[in-house]
Amino acid sequence: MNTPTLRLLSLGAGVQSTTLALMACRGELPGLDGAVFADTGWEPPAVYEQVDRLETEFATAGIPLHRVSNGHLRKDSLDPEHRFVSIPYFTLAPEGTMIREEITEPDANGQLVIVGYRERLATRREREGIGRRQCTAEYKIAPINRAVRMLLGAPAPRYLRVPKGRYAEQWIGFSTDEPERVNDRRENKYTVKRFPLLELDMSRKDCERYLRRAGWGHTVKSSCIGCPHHRNDYWREMRDHRPDEWADAIAFDHAIRKGGASAKPLRGQAFLHRSCVPLELAPIDRVTRVEWKNRQLDLFDDYAPDLEDDTDDGPGCSPYGCTSGASVATPRRKAA
Ligand code: SF4
Repeated sequence: MNTPTLRLLSLGAGVQSTTLALMACRGELPGLDGAVFADTGWEPPAVYEQVDRLETEFATAGIPLHRVSNGHLRKDSLDPEHRFVSIPYFTLAPEGTMIREEITEPDANGQLVIVGYRERLATRREREGIGRRQCTAEYKIAPINRAVRMLLGAPAPRYLRVPKGRYAEQWIGFSTDEPERVNDRRENKYTVKRFPLLELDMSRKDCERYLRRAGWGHTVKSSCIGCPHHRNDYWREMRDHRPDEWADAIAFDHAIRKGGASAKPLRGQAFLHRSCVPLELAPIDRVTRVEWKNRQLDLFDDYAPDLEDDTDDGPGCSPYGCTSGASVATPRRKAA
């Protein structure tokens, strides 16, 4: 394969891609021609401040930052005139939902075979489910791809066809602790993925340490204010320190009880918190297993002499590895 026409960073503005951005700006990762940030319109103000700050670093290094958007995720979700926005809400089917179960018996060879069916009432847990996640593809990946095609010379106004032979090397901020998300399959003819953090053998914790040393110790998680896949510690931090965002998320949670405004109303109910209760009543003070694990890892950091204190509020929604949620169309259980 010939040399890439462009090297572009997919900037999610979270811990990992911010590390790549700073490394590129400081010459530790040479050759970057630009960065692309996809704005869902509903990031916390701190993320936009972070992107502004990064833009200054990029400008100093002579690297253009392209901000792109495919709409405003919150407004579009609540607009009955807008096409359906598929956010991975947690769903609860109504009480009285029946479940059909197979009745099996061993045949002459001892193999279980279906001999009939019976119906029974679903338990509360069996009524819980999760919706499809297409918001990342629609609000992040699609506008980034459009920008990449445009930068590669696809003709206006639709920027669909990239001239033959031109392609972009796309830098993606996957770190060594998330191998399950790494997918180097080519999604199209005009991009080839590259994972510089894997080449450098850097984990998320390594990135956090790098950022602290670089004076970016408070790099915040990038994801929508009302993403259903925030962890309890993230919701708690929002409730306790960012009351405007918390109020915004609660209002949104109430507004989506019957699903997206432009879709057929759900038979059951939709919620932002996995417990399927209104956000202001959800058990967000419960410390999860993942949180305990991170607290233990952070204990190690307390003994590292060159580090400052910091908060780990979990992974964010990077365009190519939205670690704030399950993969597209991965049901928790049957949706309501
Ligand atoms: S942060 Fe959540 S709501 Fe926003 S695009 Fe990613 S998955 Fe969707």
